[in-house]
Amino acid sequence: MNLDFKNKNVLVTGASRGIGSSIAFAFAQAGARIALNYASSDERAQEVLKTLPGSGHGLYKFDVAQADQVEGGIEKILKDFGSLQVVVNNAGITRDQILLRMKEDDWDQVMQTNLKSVFLVTRLAVKSMLKARHGSIINVSSIIGQTGQAGQSNYAAAKAGIIAFTKSIALEVASRSIRINCIAPGFIETDMTKSLSEDVRKGILDRVPMGSMGKPEDIAGGCLFLASPLASYITGHTLDVNGGLLMN
Ligand code: NAD
Repeated sequence: MNLDFKNKNVLVTGASRGIGSSIAFAFAQAGARIALNYASSDERAQEVLKTLPGSGHGLYKFDVAQADQVEGGIEKILKDFGSLQVVVNNAGITRDQILLRMKEDDWDQVMQTNLKSVFLVTRLAVKSMLKARHGSIINVSSIIGQTGQAGQSNYAAAKAGIIAFTKSIALEVASRSIRINCIAPGFIETDMTKSLSEDVRKGILDRVPMGSMGKPEDIAGGCLFLASPLASYITGHTLDVNGGLLMN
C-alpha cells in the first residue's frame, strides 16, 4: 500500500493557484492524470499546467457554482479521461462582513461557490463512480466551519455545511466502495489569507500551537492520504490540518 496514483484520474476544482494548485501538483507527482478546473485566468491555469509532472493533464474552465457549466465541464472531463477515481472539491471564496453589514449577495455568492458547488460536482462524480463501484471524493472545508468566526458567518455556515453534506453522502455510497471525506485547513499561506493585517496574523500565530501558518503542501499531503489505499477504511471523516489550532 502506498501513495502511487499511476493510472488514476483526479479532478481538482479551483486549481489555478493556492491550495488547489498544490493539490494538483502532489497528485501529478504521485503519477495521476489531472483535470485542472479553474474559473477565470487562462494564463494562470496554463502556468500551473506547465509545472505539473507527468503527462495527459488537461485544463477545464468552468464556474463550479453554475449547474449547467459543471455539467458541461464534467461531461467533457469524462469524455477525455474515461473515468474519474478522485475528485477534490477545493474551489472557494470569502466575502467577509459582520452580519448587520452583510449583503444578501455576499451570503448567496459564498453559499453558491463554497457549498452548492460541492453538491453539483459530487452528484455527477458519484454518478460516474457508482458504475465503477470505486472512488474517493475530498471536500475542502475549513477550521472556520468548526469554530465559527466573527465576520465570516456566510463562510462558516458553508464550510460547516460541507462537513454535514459529506457525512450524509458517505452514508449513501459507503456500500459501493465510494469514500467521501473532508479536509479542514487551519490558516494556510495563500492569496486568501494574504490580505490579513499584521495584527490579525499575529493574533492567529499566537494561538497556533505549532507557531506557524500552514503551507498549501500540508493540505495536499492530507488529500493524498485520504484518496490513497492507506485510508481505505476511512469515510465521512474530517481531517484537521491546522498545527493544533482547533485545540486552543
Ligand atoms: P485561493 O483564493 O488562493 O484559491 C481559491 C481558488 O478557487 C482560486 O483558484 C479561484 O479561482 C477558485 N475559484 C473561486 N471561485 C470559483 C468558481 N466559481 N469556480 C471555479 N473555481 C473557483 O484560496 P485558497 O486559500 O487556495 O483556498 C482553497 C480552498 O481552501 C478554499 O475552499 C478555501 O475556503 C479553503 N481554505 C483555505 C484556508 C486558508 O487559510 N487559505 C483555510 C481553510 C480553508
